[in-house]
Amino acid sequence: KPLVQVQDVGMRFETKNGTFVALRDINLNISEGEVITLIGHSGCGKSTLLNLIAGLTLPSSGVLICNGREIAGPGPERGVVFQNHSLLPWLSCFENVMLGVERVFGAQEGKAKLKERTRAALEMVHMDHAMHKMPHEISGGMKQRVGIARAFAIEPKILLMDEPFGALDALTRASLQDELIGVMQKTGATVVMVTHDVDEAVLLSDRVVMMTNGPAATIGEILEVKLEK
Ligand code: ADP
Ligand code: ADP
Repeated sequence: KPLVQVQDVGMRFETKNGTFVALRDINLNISEGEVITLIGHSGCGKSTLLNLIAGLTLPSSGVLICNGREIAGPGPERGVVFQNHSLLPWLSCFENVMLGVERVFGAQEGKAKLKERTRAALEMVHMDHAMHKMPHEISGGMKQRVGIARAFAIEPKILLMDEPFGALDALTRASLQDELIGVMQKTGATVVMVTHDVDEAVLLSDRVVMMTNGPAATIGEILEVKLEK
């Protein structure tokens, strides 16, 4: 049984120019352990679909299921990494990661164990040396590493990433891609990642889902390519 099922999902937005159809009849199954990239040019609905799986928005029609349950909002089994890292600026890197760890494991685990989880996640992305720094003291690539650590630290069943390296220079991007491959291999994580970079999609994923604009230029259609590795 797939970990995530997207069934006949449609998404409409009400705008001042009327109803805008961003997604129509989307069907997609994501198996446990699979790494999928969503590609396609700007405006084809990638973020909209990812936000639906994240539970940040609800579909206009159809249903999304994760781990056997209908998605009705965000949940700890789905970790999210945003393009702009979204670290809280008044907390250190360690505290940023610890916050989520406490929320998810705080009820059943002691402080020492929670700190250990936090440190392990930061170590995994090689940020343990700078973990007590504030977000403004570190580079964009480092912030993104902390964002990834924060998402992995809660041990989500699936990791959702919206252009996680989109704002980074080419060199930093390449080293973070390597980093992510290492983390994905280590954890066997299921990943859905939005990118507009075809090279990145081929490098990182098992399956590339290309979203296209249909004849009305507003219809998200799906074309899938399975990669042999
Ligand atoms: P992508 O991530 O592929 O660039 P998005 O999913 O962000 O595309 O957007 C798909 C389309 O839906 C775009 O035309 C965008 O302007 C529109 N859209 C997204 N969110 C909203 C919203 N909240 N209100 C109105 N239109 C939206
Ligand atoms: P992306 O980087 O994936 O193309 P955008 O920067 O276009 O995403 O959109 C960022 C956010 O703004 C998304 O959460 C999306 O829902 C919202 N958004 C996009 N287009 C519109 C729109 N036309 N009206 C209102 N909100 C929008």
